[in-house]
Amino acid sequence: MAVLKTRASVCTDCSLSETRANVVFGSGCVEAKLAIVAEGPSAADNRTTFPFSGPAGELLDEVLAANGLTRGHIWLTNIIKCRAAGMRAGVLKNRPPKAAEIKACAKWLDAELNLVQPSVILCMGSPAAKTLIHRQFRITAERGIWFKDTSYAPFAMATFNPAYVLRQEGETFTATRQLLIDDIAEALRRCTALSPPAREVHETDEPPQLTLF
Ligand code: SF4
Repeated sequence: MAVLKTRASVCTDCSLSETRANVVFGSGCVEAKLAIVAEGPSAADNRTTFPFSGPAGELLDEVLAANGLTRGHIWLTNIIKCRAAGMRAGVLKNRPPKAAEIKACAKWLDAELNLVQPSVILCMGSPAAKTLIHRQFRITAERGIWFKDTSYAPFAMATFNPAYVLRQEGETFTATRQLLIDDIAEALRRCTALSPPAREVHETDEPPQLTLF
């Protein structure tokens, strides 16, 4: 995985290389049974080189912790590795990734998921679900539904992106945050049902932590 990350760090295969500060490769446990895949790096990630570095990352840490997980228990990545942003009123603002950018970056996602070989993929947000589950995916209608025999895992499901949850207010925020916790719990149950209770070897890009699956 380290070799792959080094190769990706100098990728210039799409125009996002012109505006990024850093390539944001996946991180976590390379033998994790649960992979979480989101849309793309935030402005904070672009600075730190790690996925989910900013406020959305703090929420992600909270909802993982609510399920007894840390980032060291999962593989965490995005469908594109460079921040998608465009100039608006002289300021670089986030924008959704374009189809051509997702296609250009698919080789890195393909390679990392083939190395990790997760049992379960939890897509966070519609762009990731459209890339990994099916093209017409609608998060409002299909969130929380299991899809079998997907390209990179026997089971895949989608939930809300923590960044979306943070944009909600009041009771809607509380309810959406709880759904995110519940969806992670469901993904964890599926991993536990599929995997043997103990694993002897695991490597991480982060400091070593216990592997749950
Ligand atoms: S987004 Fe992906 S394909 Fe485009 S430059 Fe970055 S790493 Fe390369």
